[in-house]
Amino acid sequence: MAAPEIADLDPDERDIVAVVRDWVDGSVRPVARDLEHANTYPGELIEEMKRLGVYGLAIPQAYGGSGVSTACFALVTEELARGWMSLAGAMGGHSVVARLITTFGTGAQKDHWLPRLATGQARATMALTEPGGGSDLQAIRTRATATAAGYRLDGVKTWISNARAADVTAVLAKTDPDAVPASHGISILLTEKGPGCTVSRDLPKLGYKGVETCEIVFDGYECGRDALLGTEEGQGFRQMMGGLELGRIQVAARAVGVARAALEDSLRYAQQREAFGQPIWRHQAVGHRLADMATRVDAARLLTVRAAAALDGGGRSDLAAGMAKLFASEACLQVTADAIKVHGGYGFSAEFDVERYYRDAPLMVVGEGTNDIQRNVIIRQLVDRYPA
Ligand SMILES: Cc1cc2nc3c(=O)[nH]c(=O)nc-3n(C[C@H](O)[C@H](O)[C@H](O)COP(=O)(O)OP(=O)(O)OC[C@H]3O[C@@H](n4cnc5c(N)ncnc54)[C@H](O)[C@@H]3O)c2cc1C
Repeated sequence: MAAPEIADLDPDERDIVAVVRDWVDGSVRPVARDLEHANTYPGELIEEMKRLGVYGLAIPQAYGGSGVSTACFALVTEELARGWMSLAGAMGGHSVVARLITTFGTGAQKDHWLPRLATGQARATMALTEPGGGSDLQAIRTRATATAAGYRLDGVKTWISNARAADVTAVLAKTDPDAVPASHGISILLTEKGPGCTVSRDLPKLGYKGVETCEIVFDGYECGRDALLGTEEGQGFRQMMGGLELGRIQVAARAVGVARAALEDSLRYAQQREAFGQPIWRHQAVGHRLADMATRVDAARLLTVRAAAALDGGGRSDLAAGMAKLFASEACLQVTADAIKVHGGYGFSAEFDVERYYRDAPLMVVGEGTNDIQRNVIIRQLVDRYPA
């Protein structure tokens, strides 16, 4: 299937997307199924992603990144996820943390982290979720207590992707547990591995295999005052909500990529597979299903690129990002289930890729804020913008 039309990208950005697309076709798709089934860490592919500049897409050129538009970032993410969603997951949290440091970091934090994050020499992840909950982030229990030298961190984070590979983890913690509202007592600490920080276990998962998702225990972990993102305590909740706008666009783009892979495999299969003396796409039930799948994929991409443009426009993009993430992930869930139907029994086979798409799809519904939370964001924004 031809690559989607890419609106509003300059020629350099089109080239970046095309290079990643070709790499995915040549180097990722042929090996993804075996790596996924063996749950093998894709070390060589991640090194290639570093060489391709994928880890520096969201980092300004002044710090060694390529500083591409968010639409280009989303379309690269789509291509990676089309090959193997785990690869897009291996650069998602990294890019959000890079954006947090770019937007809110001190000069010293930018100089220290961004050049190394841009090449992938250092990798980043974010730790928000706790065993007690991920939706209600104002209720987190991880505590950053001020010490003479900086902070002491105590608490447990869970479901943290790329926790072992990350050199820096942006941890959401309470610096003032008594603050009212609670969000004003939350800060982000840029932590590195050291005594008192243990990646305690890798969580078994339905999909998103190959890359690790872990629990992290902080028990008397000490860091300097310069670990605080920015200069002021109590800004972490607001900072993270800003960072998650990029994260939600990234998850939407992952969903578009997985759904597109499911559509492309189904379109090919429906022309090759025959039943009752004709290719199955000629049976209206199958043909219409494919038409609906393609329409959902295109609509999801349009919403994602629109949200990307809103983010680059400088205004608030939480409404557009929430809609993109909500629609694209639900579309992905539907399209991957439809792909199984198109493939009949082979859709259930581990020798085909569609079963992987089907297992990967639910993560996009849950991750970066569940779709129920997106709906809460959307309705709050609608009422704010259109008061009766
Ligand atoms: C594979 C994987 C990777 C992840 N990677 C990361 C990561 O790198 N970093 C990180 O910090 N987190 C990560 N997460 C965690 C993820 O962000 C959370 O799982 C998600 O935010 C939901 O939190 P929860 O699981 O605690 O669900 P809960 O918050 O307990 O929610 C349970 C259910 O209640 C619903 N619900 C809760 N509150 C409301 C409400 N106010 N209105 C309506 N419905 C509501 C939810 O929609 C959901 O259906 C990852 C999760 C997975 C599965």
